[in-house]
Amino acid sequence: MNERDSEQVAQTFSERGYTLTPDEQDADAILINTCSVRDQAEQKALGKMGMMGKYREKRSHVVFGFMGCMAQSRGSELFDRIAHLDLVVGTQKYHRVFDYVDGILSRRLEARMDEVGSEMVTARVEDEVIKVNQDRVISARVVDTEEEEGSQNTIRDHIPREQQQATAFVSIMQGCNMRCSFCIVPDTRGKERGRPIADIVEEVKNLVSKGVREVTLLGQIVNLYGRTEFEKVNGKSPFVQLLEAVHDVEGLERIRFTSPHPIGYRDDLVEAFTYLPKLCSHIHFPMQSGSDRILKLMRRPYKNEKFLSICAKMKEARPDLAITTDIIVGFPGETEEDFQETLKCMKEVGFDNSFIFRYSKRKDTPAAEMDGQLSEKVKEERNQALLRVQEELTTKKNAALIGTLQQVLCEGPSKTNKERLSGRTSQNKIVIFNGDAREFTGRLVNIRIEDSTGYTLYGSPELE
Ligand code: SF4
Repeated sequence: MNERDSEQVAQTFSERGYTLTPDEQDADAILINTCSVRDQAEQKALGKMGMMGKYREKRSHVVFGFMGCMAQSRGSELFDRIAHLDLVVGTQKYHRVFDYVDGILSRRLEARMDEVGSEMVTARVEDEVIKVNQDRVISARVVDTEEEEGSQNTIRDHIPREQQQATAFVSIMQGCNMRCSFCIVPDTRGKERGRPIADIVEEVKNLVSKGVREVTLLGQIVNLYGRTEFEKVNGKSPFVQLLEAVHDVEGLERIRFTSPHPIGYRDDLVEAFTYLPKLCSHIHFPMQSGSDRILKLMRRPYKNEKFLSICAKMKEARPDLAITTDIIVGFPGETEEDFQETLKCMKEVGFDNSFIFRYSKRKDTPAAEMDGQLSEKVKEERNQALLRVQEELTTKKNAALIGTLQQVLCEGPSKTNKERLSGRTSQNKIVIFNGDAREFTGRLVNIRIEDSTGYTLYGSPELE
């Protein structure tokens, strides 16, 4: 989701005459889109921003800004941490970033030309103060973390690519109305707000006209899309209505979505996998824990039985379905028994892959204050045990694909070896193969799987 938001901001700059540079030393503005899910991510962003202050030495006009979840939750407090910071923009204001940066930059460059020597204070823009300090560097402080109605509709533009782009993310909603005790998202992203179906379909049509063949619909709880704004029609939720509308887009080959929640994962969505063939045979379905006791402490309002029964129904609807998940290990109060429940569920579902996170305290979340915080040693041991089980499951599942023919959407040269091509199966498994990028990128190619090394498959095209 952050990647998609960053793309939107980048596009507003490029359509207004700025150029994106991969080299931060060349940049006139440096923005970091921040994540608050883990403390480590925040520390990394702060460290990186701190280190980049050195670019001011040679280029005093450079604008520095934080956007996203950490910006939203910490606001102006970030100026105390980073002296050279100019801008803090929250999650409902991505569409305003360009104006803030452009404004600061223009004033700074103009002032430099005029050699302004005295202090200058401008009118306030939210909380903006611009002045020239003794070093004759204009410092600017803009904070905008207000809520803004309709902000979910502003994440809709994509950067035109020089090379063909086979896949794209489409943001269909913002926010979350749940209150998981470990999560800061409801505070940083606000309430659930969905975009109209017609706007989303239009965005998908545009992407397809530029060569995109697969879209991934994004939302914090994607299957709850539109539940507070749009009606059910013939017993179908707004999300299923959206899937049907996107499915009708000619030229689109594949649809994915992430991430669904057991709450609101109803039979109409399960059923959709039987009559919408463009829906890929993969769901990323966060389990978090296999213990009902821990789920309750996490404030996840369902029992594990429900999670397992949805997985079973989904596999019935799509027998080749791959399921991947998120698990938090070492949540406060997690006993050995709770942990064993998680292990058991992992094996029972037979996840194709899992993203396993050691619980880490997030400021301003109820779980951070809970009794029974576990030692890092216990968390690490349990983490390693889950990783071992997952590795076994993945290796076995992928080895079973050797010799089969898989339809792979070629995404272009592999990131790790530009000489080879990379793509994904409907089950979202990465496949590496030989071929000409110009010929295959954006095409569905039949690949005979010849080898597997843990998480990656290798094969050769079989052309008709
Ligand atoms: S469902 Fe829970 S974990 Fe997911 S975004 Fe909402 S509060 Fe966070």
